[in-house]
Amino acid sequence: MNKKKTISSWGNYPVHEARVVELSAILQNLQTLDSEQQKITFGNGRSYGDAPLSDTIISTSTQNKIYDFDSDSGLLHCESGLLIEDIINQFLPRGWFPQVVPGTKQVSVGGAIAADIHGKNHHKKGSFSESVESLTLVLPDGSCVSCSRDSNVDLFQATCGGMGLTGIISDVKLKLMKVKSRNVIQNVHRTSSLKDTIDFFMKKDESDYSVAWVDTSCDIESMGRAVIQTGAFAGDGDLDYHPKPAISVSDFVPAFLLNDSTISVFNTLYYNLVGRESSNQKITAESFFFPLDKIRDWNRLYGDSGFRQFQVIFPLESSFDGIKALFKAMKKHELISYLAVLKLYGKQNENLLSFPMEGFSIAMDFKNKPGTSALFKHFDEITTSYSGRIYLAKDASMSRECFEAGYPNADKFRQLRKEYGMDKTFNSLQSKRLGL
Ligand SMILES: Cc1cc2nc3c(=O)[nH]c(=O)nc-3n(C[C@H](O)[C@H](O)[C@H](O)COP(=O)(O)OP(=O)(O)OC[C@H]3O[C@@H](n4cnc5c(N)ncnc54)[C@H](O)[C@@H]3O)c2cc1C
Repeated sequence: MNKKKTISSWGNYPVHEARVVELSAILQNLQTLDSEQQKITFGNGRSYGDAPLSDTIISTSTQNKIYDFDSDSGLLHCESGLLIEDIINQFLPRGWFPQVVPGTKQVSVGGAIAADIHGKNHHKKGSFSESVESLTLVLPDGSCVSCSRDSNVDLFQATCGGMGLTGIISDVKLKLMKVKSRNVIQNVHRTSSLKDTIDFFMKKDESDYSVAWVDTSCDIESMGRAVIQTGAFAGDGDLDYHPKPAISVSDFVPAFLLNDSTISVFNTLYYNLVGRESSNQKITAESFFFPLDKIRDWNRLYGDSGFRQFQVIFPLESSFDGIKALFKAMKKHELISYLAVLKLYGKQNENLLSFPMEGFSIAMDFKNKPGTSALFKHFDEITTSYSGRIYLAKDASMSRECFEAGYPNADKFRQLRKEYGMDKTFNSLQSKRLGL
C-alpha cells in the first residue's frame, strides 16, 4: 500500500491527503483498476481547484513517450502524460506547434483533453479537442477503447472536457500545425473601459491570437479597461528555438510583497507604462503565449493559504452586464483580483462538458482569505443570473445549482457514467461536490 501524500493543484487550495499510484503500474495489471473507490487521474496539477483530487490519484507523470510523428501530416502519437512543453521543445525547431495552447506549457496532453482547454485562438481554432484525432481510454473494467469523432463518439464527446470522470486517457493522436517561425508579430492596444474592450473584440479583432489583460484595481467606471495583445506567427523562417530556464520566486521576491496595495500599484503601472500601444513588434512565442512560465513557482507568492481563480463565460448578449455585475460584487466585498484576463470565444463544440461558448470569458485570481468564499458564492449567483458557465478546470467551490444551470448536458453525462460504471470508479472532490 502506497503512503498517503498531501496533494493540491496549482492554486494550493484545497489540499488533500491522497495515495499516489503511477499509471504505468495500472497499465501493467488492468484488473487492479476496478477494486478501488474514489480515484482520479492527475496530469501535471495545473488546474486550479479540486478536479484532480481524490483519495487515490493516478499519476501520468512518467507516461511521456512519443510513439510516432508523421512529418507530412503533423500527426503526433504520444502518451497522455507528455507535456505541451515537451511537444514545443521537440517540434517547434522542426516547424510544428500545437494548434491550441493554454497560458502555461506545463500542462499534460491528457489534462488538456480532459479540460478541453482553449487558447488565445479559440475564435479561430476552437478547443484543444479539435486537434485530437483519436484517444485511447481505459474504462473501469480495464478495457481500452479507441475514441474519436467516428468511433465511440459518445465516449469521445464525454471525455473531451469530462475532467477525468470517464476513465484514463492513456495515449493520444494529435494534429500539430505548421509554423514558419519561433516568433510572433504582436500588436498592443489600450482601451479605456469595459465597453471599449468589448467593442474592440467585436469590431476590430481579426487576428489569429488575442487576449486582454484587464485592470480591476481602478474605479468602477473605468474597470474593465484593458491592454489587448493580438498576434500571429511570424513568417521569417527563424526556428532557432532555445527556451530560457525559468527562475524561482524565492530567488527574488518574498511572498509578503504580494498584497492588495502592491497589486493596485502594479496594475496602474502596467496599464500606463508597460501596456503602451505598439504595432508589429516581433517577440518570441515563449513571451507571447507563456509569460507566466518565466517564473517557475509564482503560485507560491500567494502564501500558504493559496489562491483561487474564478473563470466564467457569458453568452454574447449578456457578457457586458454579467462582467459589470462581477466587478460591482468585487467592490462590494472589498476584495481585489490580482490578475484578470478577458477574451472573446468562438462557437461551442459538441462535447458534453466543454466550457467555451460564443461569448466573453473573464478569469480573475484572488488570494484565498476570509471573505473569498462569500465573494465566490455571490459570483455563482451572478453567473446563473446572466446565463453564464464556470470553468471546471478552475473551480473549487461552484454550487450544484450553478453547475446545473451552466451545463445543460450534465444529466446526459451522468447517464453515460452510470452506463459504463464510471461513477463507481472515477470520482474527484469536484465530482462529489457537483453530484456528477
Ligand atoms: C498559468 C496557467 C495558465 C492557464 N491557462 C489556461 C488557458 O489559457 N486555457 C485553459 O483552458 N486552461 C488554462 N489553464 C488550465 C490548464 O490548462 C488546465 O487545468 C489543464 O487541465 C491542466 O492540465 P494538467 O495536465 O495539469 O492536469 P491536472 O490539473 O492534473 O488535471 C486536470 C483534469 O484533467 C484530468 N486528467 C489529467 N490527465 C488525465 C488523463 N490522462 N486521463 C484522464 N483525465 C486526466 C484530471 O482528472 C483533472 O480532472 C492554465 C493553468 C495555469 C496554471
